[in-house]
Amino acid sequence: MNDNTTDTASPDVKPLNFLQQIIKKDLADGAHTQITTRFPPEPNGYLHIGHAKAICLNFGLAQEFGGGCNLRFDDTNPEKEDQEYIDSITRDVQWLGFEWAGEIKYASSYFETFYQWAQHLIETGKAYVCHLSADQARKYRGDTKVAGTNSPYRDRSVDENLAELAKMRAGDYDEGACTLRAKIDMAAPNFNLRDPMLYRIRKQTHHQTGDKWCIYPTYDFAHGQEDAIEGVTHSICTLEFADHRPLYEWFTANLPVPSQPRQYEFARLELNYTVTSKRKLKQLVDENLVDGWDDPRMPTIAGMRRRGYSADSIRNFCDLIGVTKSGSTIDVGTLEFAVRDDLNENAPRAMCVLDPVKVVIDNFAECNTVDGIELLSQPAHPNREELGKRELPFTETLYIDRADFTEDTTLSRKKFKRLVAGEYVRLRGAYVIKSNDIVKDNQGNITELRCSLVPNTVGENPPEGIRPRGVIHWVSAEKNIDCEVRLYDRLFNAAAPDAGDKNFIDALNPESLQIIQGCKAELSLQSAQIEQSYQFEREGYFCLDSKHSCDEKFVFNRAIGLKDNWANKV
Ligand code: ATP
Ligand code: MG
Repeated sequence: MNDNTTDTASPDVKPLNFLQQIIKKDLADGAHTQITTRFPPEPNGYLHIGHAKAICLNFGLAQEFGGGCNLRFDDTNPEKEDQEYIDSITRDVQWLGFEWAGEIKYASSYFETFYQWAQHLIETGKAYVCHLSADQARKYRGDTKVAGTNSPYRDRSVDENLAELAKMRAGDYDEGACTLRAKIDMAAPNFNLRDPMLYRIRKQTHHQTGDKWCIYPTYDFAHGQEDAIEGVTHSICTLEFADHRPLYEWFTANLPVPSQPRQYEFARLELNYTVTSKRKLKQLVDENLVDGWDDPRMPTIAGMRRRGYSADSIRNFCDLIGVTKSGSTIDVGTLEFAVRDDLNENAPRAMCVLDPVKVVIDNFAECNTVDGIELLSQPAHPNREELGKRELPFTETLYIDRADFTEDTTLSRKKFKRLVAGEYVRLRGAYVIKSNDIVKDNQGNITELRCSLVPNTVGENPPEGIRPRGVIHWVSAEKNIDCEVRLYDRLFNAAAPDAGDKNFIDALNPESLQIIQGCKAELSLQSAQIEQSYQFEREGYFCLDSKHSCDEKFVFNRAIGLKDNWANKV
C-alpha cells in the first residue's frame, strides 16, 4: 500500500507508518467509522520501556484518528499476577499522559462468556476435552518435519465433552489431568493450529474472581475474543504473535462474537545495554540485585520516573524510533538523547557541590556589610524567563568542588579552566575570586582555600589585567542543604546482556550505582519537588529520590550526565 504521497509532500511532515496507513485507509473506505485500539498488559510485573512503545502506539493512534484505546488487563494467569502490578501499570499509563476509554477492562470479567463459547465449540464439534499429560501432548504434536498425531480423546461425543468440561469447571480434576482443546488440524504446518489448548486447570485464587474459577483460558482462547467483545478494530501486538494470527482468526470466525477485530504486528522495541523482559526484571528484583522495580537503573517506567526522566522524554523517544514491521535493536543512547534534550529545555538550573572544599573570602567583611549575607539572584533557566529567578546567598565561607582547584600552576588556561593557586576564577552568578593561600591538615590534604573577591564583578567584567580562567559552581557554606547524591550508570556492561544463552546477571555493571554523601546543594533546592528534575550546573540532571522523605535527608538521583560519557569509557 502506498497512499502516503500527499503526506510526504512537505519535508516537515513525517511519512505515515504502516499502521497509520492502514487505519487511514480503513476510515476512508468506510471499513470502520471509528477505531478502537487497546493496550493489554498481563499484570505480572511492572511496565518497561518496551511497553511504553506499545502504549504510545496504541493510545497515540486512537488519539490521532479520534478513536478510543482500552486499557485491558490480560489476567488469565493468576499464579503470576498481583494487584500491585495492576496498580503500578495503571499509574504508569496515566503518568505517560494517556487516558483510556471508559472503565479499566479485565479479561477475567469475560470468563463466563468464554466458558459459553467453549461449550459452543464443543457443540459444533470443534473442541474436546483431552486427558493426555503435558508430556504426551508434546509427543503427539509432532515437529517441523513430522505431522502430529490425533489425540485418542479427539472423537468423543458432544455430550461427553460437555460433561467433562463441566467436571473440569467443578474442580473434579487435578491440575494437569486434562485440558480443553480446539479440534483444528494436527498436520497443520503452523503448530498453533495443531489442536491448541483452550482451557487448563489451575487451582489458584484469582485477584479479580477469587475462587470462582479453577479453569483458566489460554492467551489464544482469550485475546481475540476480548478484542471482539470490546469492539476493538485494530488489535496491535508484537511480531512474535504473527504465527498466532491464524488461530486468532479461527476463533473469531468460529464463535458468535459481536465484532471482527483484526490483528496487526509490529516490531518490539529492543534496546542495547538493556533487558526488556518482565521475567528477567523480576529476577533482578527477587534476588535483591536492584532496589525494587522502581530502582532508577531499571528500564521500567517506574524506574525511569524515579530517576528523573520525564514522561515527555519517553514519549519523544517512542516517536523518534518510529514503528516498523521488522525488528532492530535501538541504541540506548537514543533514549538518553531524548532525555537530555528534554531536560536541557525544561530543567531549572541549580548548584550542588559534590566534593566540597571550603573557600574563605578574606575580604568579605570589607565588601559586604549586610548581615554577613549578600543575596544574589540567578535565573532558574538561562532561556526560560518565565521560570523565574532563584536567590543565591553569598557568604564569607563557601564551598567549591575539590576538583575545581589545583596547585599546579603549569597547567595551560585551555587545559584547566578552573581555579589555580594564585589565579582568578568566576563563581557562577557571583564574583570573580582570587586564590591567595592554601590551608592543609597534617596529611597534606587541603582543608581550606583562602581567597579574596574582586569587588563589583557580579554580572560585570573584572578590571583590565584580571583574567579569570573560567566559571565554576559554588554554594554558601553557611546556607545550603546537606544531601546525598546517587550517580547511576548503565545497569549492564554488555551491549546484549541476554543474547543467546548468556546469563544476563553476569553482565551486571558493578559500578552502576555510586553513592556520594556530604554533598552541598544550594538552598533553593529545599523546595524541590518529587519528579522535578534540575540541572546541577556542570554536573548533570538530578531529581529528588521519591523514596526518601526530605525530613530525614535529601537524596538526589542523577537522571543523566550533561554529555554522553559512555563512548569515552568503553
Ligand atoms: P515481557 O516479554 O516483558 O513479559 P509481554 O509481552 O509478556 O512482555 P505484556 O504485558 O503481555 O508483556 O505486554 C503488553 C503489551 O505490550 C503487548 O501488546 C506487548 O506486545 C507489548 N510489548 C511488550 N514488550 C514490548 C516491547 N519490548 N516492545 C514493544 N511492545 C511490547
Ligand atoms: Mg505477554
